[in-house]
Amino acid sequence: MKRDNKSYILIVFAVIFVLLFLHFGIFNERAESFEADSGSRPVMGTFARVIVIAADERVAEACIEAAFEWIYKIDELMSYHNPDSEISRLNRSAFENPVKVGSLTYQVIKKGIEFGRLTDGAFDVTIGPLVDLWRRCADANTIPTQQQLQEAGSRVGWDKLSLEDGEQTVQFAVDGMQLDLGGIAKGFAIDKAIEVIKESGGLGALVDIGGDIRCYGKTPKGQKYWLIGLQNPDLESEKQILFTLKLSAGAVATSGDYQRFVLIGGRHYSHIINQKTGSSAEGLSGVTIITDSATDADALATAVSVMGAEKGIELIEKSTNAEAIMVSPAPEYKITETSGAEKFIK
Ligand code: ADP
Ligand code: MG
Repeated sequence: MKRDNKSYILIVFAVIFVLLFLHFGIFNERAESFEADSGSRPVMGTFARVIVIAADERVAEACIEAAFEWIYKIDELMSYHNPDSEISRLNRSAFENPVKVGSLTYQVIKKGIEFGRLTDGAFDVTIGPLVDLWRRCADANTIPTQQQLQEAGSRVGWDKLSLEDGEQTVQFAVDGMQLDLGGIAKGFAIDKAIEVIKESGGLGALVDIGGDIRCYGKTPKGQKYWLIGLQNPDLESEKQILFTLKLSAGAVATSGDYQRFVLIGGRHYSHIINQKTGSSAEGLSGVTIITDSATDADALATAVSVMGAEKGIELIEKSTNAEAIMVSPAPEYKITETSGAEKFIK
């Protein structure tokens, strides 16, 4: 069949059109979105990393910066070590007078108390004096004496806090009490970061602060799930990653004695303390909690480290929407999971 010039020109245009469409991704779902990765940035005594999927580069980068603004802000407010933080200001004078705090700090303290009640004190935001004692002992390479443990323990107890919702004030019942939000603030910062990424137009994101993670939405490279590797607490094992978790959306927090600990006389002591005994938590070498909110995951991982496998499983099985994976101490490294954990394991 003979074609005239006009049809050839039409065919050529059609081909160019299709190629352009393919190039700009109209037929290609992957190219519709842009992935930005912050890389690791130091904050909260660890590193944070944010990955955002958005319609274009400008939005993705803006989401990352908005997320970090929140993370830095929460660190500034709630840091135990920064003498200028709201928590340090409160710690200096909340026995003498009720101290007014901003709504973010107030919210986290209230959440902390909620977890104190839920876990019968395994999670305790007033753990500060015992953490300080263990840190001082580690510097001197000694174990705390029974008397020291008792004295510091008398200044610990979430039920010794008085809160007043109207004015948002906090007061200590005992002189020398110290609030320490180290077991929950990372999770809260992650939740706030995810919230602001959603508001700023992120189509999907993953926020990681020191191994505590929350993710949602569109994944990188069109993968079916967000994939999260859990480090093996057995550092001598050849298998560095114990499990890879797959999540469409949700939070994962891990507390372990293998990354952050104090070393006394060559022995590792967890940086998580049992409020009831004053001793460092040693029933588990790793606890991972999977749930919707990173605040809850963070607090629960810390709490279950104190509670141990048996009571921990009981608590998490009772909670709706939460799962746990626990690893017993060396040399057994026995793995225990809640009944619904398997569906998250790749
Ligand atoms: P990491 O992610 O570093 O393992 P966690 O979320 O497990 O941190 O929290 C550990 C921190 O929580 C400690 O450094 C301390 O500030 C605080 N903490 C220690 N013991 C408790 C406890 N029983 N309840 C609440 N917070 C605690
Ligand atoms: Mg925690």
